[in-house]
Amino acid sequence: MMTEISDSLKPGDALFIVDVQKDFCPGGALPVEGGDTIVPVINRWISAAVAKGVSVYASRDWHPMGHLSFKERGGQWPPHCIQDSDGAKFHPDLALPNSTIIVTKGVRFDLDQNSAFDQTGLAVQLRKDGIRRLWVAGLAEDVCVLATVLGARREGFDVVLIEKATRPITAEGGEKARCQMQAAGARFINENK
Ligand SMILES: [Zn+2]
Repeated sequence: MMTEISDSLKPGDALFIVDVQKDFCPGGALPVEGGDTIVPVINRWISAAVAKGVSVYASRDWHPMGHLSFKERGGQWPPHCIQDSDGAKFHPDLALPNSTIIVTKGVRFDLDQNSAFDQTGLAVQLRKDGIRRLWVAGLAEDVCVLATVLGARREGFDVVLIEKATRPITAEGGEKARCQMQAAGARFINENK
């Protein structure tokens, strides 16, 4: 099983983990159903990436208090992932290596940043690191994963979504998101592990 994952990973690849934070898991402020069930799957990919010398990136939603995406400010969401709060922490079982490159988003007062590529300078960093292809996992499939995959494709990166390592807020939203990602040229890997 590990061998198969390792065989998939090549030089020029990165593993990109979107927003696997406590607030997006059951018990959190904006939970995705089954959000925590993807953690063991992602951990297997992390092990394989580390073994192969493939970089691991992890984005985090990181909002100031009273962010414009919150309902109290006319936004769409309950308050979530407030900077330095417990809910903003990565899931405790997520085995991020010390070498993980953290991408912080959602910090701006004037806009939300669903995509890890939205005004973070990420594309520049990835190109500097010689990255051409992203293996994407994380939450939520129909919001920040979708936006990040579309952002990556717009910047010219190859993208493979690890289907067992992501969950949508709604099943319908997930289906729509997969159509959009496919139309944008993302590929999918669906493994029984
Ligand atoms: Zn947010």
